[in-house]
Amino acid sequence: MIKTKIIGPFVQLLTMDNIPLKGSVNDSQLEIIPNGGVVVCEGKIVKTGNFEQLCYEFRDQHTIIDRIDKDMVAIPGMVDPHTHICWAGSRAMDYSLRLAGKSYLEIAQSGGGIGDTVTKTRAATIAELESLLTERAIAHLNNGVTTIEVKSGYCLNTEGELKLLEVIGNVNKTIRVDLISTCLAAHIKPNDFEGKPSDYLESIVNELLPEIKKRTLSNRIDIYIDNGAFTVNEARVYLKHAKKMGFDLVIHGDQFTIGGSLLACELEALSVDHLEAVNDLEIKLLSASNVISIVLPGASLGLGCGFAPARKLLDAGCSLAIGSDWNPGSAPMGDLLLQTAILGIFEKMTMAESLAGITFRAARALDLTDRGILKERFLADLAGFPTSDYREILYNQGSLKPSAVWKKGENVRVRI
Ligand SMILES: [Zn+2]
Repeated sequence: MIKTKIIGPFVQLLTMDNIPLKGSVNDSQLEIIPNGGVVVCEGKIVKTGNFEQLCYEFRDQHTIIDRIDKDMVAIPGMVDPHTHICWAGSRAMDYSLRLAGKSYLEIAQSGGGIGDTVTKTRAATIAELESLLTERAIAHLNNGVTTIEVKSGYCLNTEGELKLLEVIGNVNKTIRVDLISTCLAAHIKPNDFEGKPSDYLESIVNELLPEIKKRTLSNRIDIYIDNGAFTVNEARVYLKHAKKMGFDLVIHGDQFTIGGSLLACELEALSVDHLEAVNDLEIKLLSASNVISIVLPGASLGLGCGFAPARKLLDAGCSLAIGSDWNPGSAPMGDLLLQTAILGIFEKMTMAESLAGITFRAARALDLTDRGILKERFLADLAGFPTSDYREILYNQGSLKPSAVWKKGENVRVRI
């Protein structure tokens, strides 16, 4: 028998419905259902509304009541559209050197940098990586993040990149959070590859991408465009091949040098991520496109750099999502809500804009149209915070954690 469940009552149910995908948003546009409830069947929302009315309406069916007996505000389960959480090792040494004023090059010469993570991740077994990824994904889930994008990119050879994508796929099957995998073999040309960056990209196209397709390990391809990584022209050739093979495209762009956004618009990528250095022309093109702008405040906090111009992007009419960029080098913190709150106060983003950036706008950056809003036919993914006023969530700047997290209608918050 198919069971129906009603979750509630929430003092406020923040649905995030009826907010546009692009541009600025006022808090007055937020739909708040007081004493709200959510009716769930087979993991999806059947109806939202007043809790008591829903209990009455669904009383004759085989309905379970998941009753909340404390003040709680619910928002859609958060979506982190950009992470690198499948790695081994630690870069605490890098961080101490960065604090001591050392440059990227000096840190790399001391044995740190991405090369250190690549060495340790290549050496790690599948079981070790699965355990590390699970631990990080569950930490995110407990903080209310119910969908996480996870990139490969710390093995940088065919065998190792396949290992990472397999690990992401395996863990996705064992935990109650959705992991969306992305191939970032084009993170940087590895030190042990003999040849030009373009040769390395060609080898990925010839050897790795067909295997990813064959094993259906991912349908998303990402590349890092910047000094020391790949040029816009190298990326164009690579991404065109990937697009022809049917992959969705994502670009790490405009972190320190420009050009990534232009290419994202040209190739109709799903998103361009970073944008700290984006210029006015690029913002104009992004606003006229369907490319989602993903900003990564965690990287600014980890590197001690300025934030991407979120206010400007929103005012220009761009669709803005926020990712944690959780990675061992530049963004080790991995607290999406805290980072969103800090970005919001520096960039003067409304609460509605911040929340949109970590719910349905982030989902759209992953081409997911079934989550991020609490409405009929959407996934019953919710984060419940112990408060009676939704504004407390961002006001507490990340220190107010969810006390309940529902994934497809099941309370899955795990104490660790
Ligand atoms: Zn990144």
